[in-house]
Amino acid sequence: MVNKSILISCIEGDGIGPELLQAARIVLKSLVESFDLKLDFVNVAAGDRELRKTGRALPNESFKLIQESDVCLKAPVGESAKETIVRIRQELDLYANVRPARNYPFIPSKFSDVDLVIVRENTEDLYVGFERRAQNGRKATALKVVTSKASERIAKFAFELAMVRKQAREKPRSVVCITKSNVLRITDGLFVKRCERVSRKYPQVLFQKMYVDTAAMNLIRAPESFDVIVTTNMYGDILSDEASQLVGGLGVSPSANIGRKFALFEPVHGCAPDIAGKGIANPLAMILSVEMMLDWLGETRLCKRCHEAAQTLDKAICSIGASGIKTPDIGGRATTLQVAEAISKEIKLLASSSSFSDDRVEMTKLVNPIASST
Ligand code: ATP
Repeated sequence: MVNKSILISCIEGDGIGPELLQAARIVLKSLVESFDLKLDFVNVAAGDRELRKTGRALPNESFKLIQESDVCLKAPVGESAKETIVRIRQELDLYANVRPARNYPFIPSKFSDVDLVIVRENTEDLYVGFERRAQNGRKATALKVVTSKASERIAKFAFELAMVRKQAREKPRSVVCITKSNVLRITDGLFVKRCERVSRKYPQVLFQKMYVDTAAMNLIRAPESFDVIVTTNMYGDILSDEASQLVGGLGVSPSANIGRKFALFEPVHGCAPDIAGKGIANPLAMILSVEMMLDWLGETRLCKRCHEAAQTLDKAICSIGASGIKTPDIGGRATTLQVAEAISKEIKLLASSSSFSDDRVEMTKLVNPIASST
C-alpha cells in the first residue's frame, strides 16, 4: 500500500448524478474503513447547474481541481456533456474509453454468456467538434478526424487488454475492429489499417474486421462471440448503449476513460432526467465504476489493498443482488440508497471474514494494460 493518500476529484453532475455520487460515497466510506485505504475527496462543480450559475459548464477552477487530483469519479451530466466530459477527455488525453458488458446472474437478461469489452477511441472522430454552417444555414458539415497515432495507440490498448483480461468463460482471445470503411474509405480506412498493423504483433489474438451495421446486428444475434471490440468514438458510443442492453441496461454499465497517467471513471449512461429525484436510479453502474477505479489504482499506484477492496466490492454487489436488493430497472424494489447501504454493510461483513483469492472475473484487469505491461 502506498503511504501517500490518493486524491479523488468527484463530479456530482445533473439529474440522477447527485444520488449516484451519494451512493458511491457510501460504498467508498465502507471500503476506506474496511481496508484502511488512504483516500481523500474533493468536490468539483461541473455540468448544467454550473453552466446556469456561472455561464461555464466546466470553469477553469474546476478543471484545475481535476488536473491536480489523482483520479476522477464522475456522475453523469446533462446537456453540457460536450463542454465537460468531452473536454476533459480531450484535454487530459484520456484516449481509451473502456466499456465492459457482462452478465451477472442476478440481473435479468435475455442472455447469460455475454462478457465483452468495448474499447472506444476517445479523442478524435466526429467528437473533435468541428461543425460548420454554410449557405445561410441551409447546409451543415462536420469534420471526422482520424490519425495514425491515435488509431495505433487505441489498437495497442485493445490487444494488450485481450492478452491480459480474465474471461468469464474461456473463448478465443479476439479483437474485432468495427468501422464503416467500405463507405468512409479514407478515415475509417486508416483506422482499420493501423489496427491491422498492430494486430501483427499479437499472433495469439484473433483479429477480425466488421462493418458497424453488421456489428450492431451481431451484438444482438450472438453477443457471446465477442471478446474485445475496438472502434472509433461515435460507433463506440452507440454500440456501448446497445451492449448495455444485453446485460441488464444502462443502470449496470460502468466505464473508464484512461490516459497515460490519469483516468476518469463514470457510468455509461446519461443523467436520466425522467427518474431524477425519485430515488429509483440504479447505482450499480456508478458503483461498478468505483470498482474499476480501485483496480486502476491498484495497478498504477501499486495499491494491493485497492485490488482487495475492488474484489470485495464485486463480491458484495453479487451477494446483495442475489438476495434481491435491487432497483426496479432490474426487477427489484429497493431504492438507490438502500442498495448502496446494503452493499456497504456487506463489504464490512466480507472484509472481516475474508481471505483474498482473486477468483473474480475482473472487469478491470484491463484498466491500464499498457501501463501494466511496460
Ligand atoms: P446521454 O445521451 O446523455 O448519453 P443516455 O443515452 O445514456 O444519455 P439516459 O438519459 O442516461 O440516456 O438514459 C436513458 C434512459 O435509461 C433513462 O431515461 C432512464 O429511464 C434509463 N436509465 C439510465 N440510467 C439509469 C439508471 N442508473 N438507473 C435506472 N435507469 C436508468
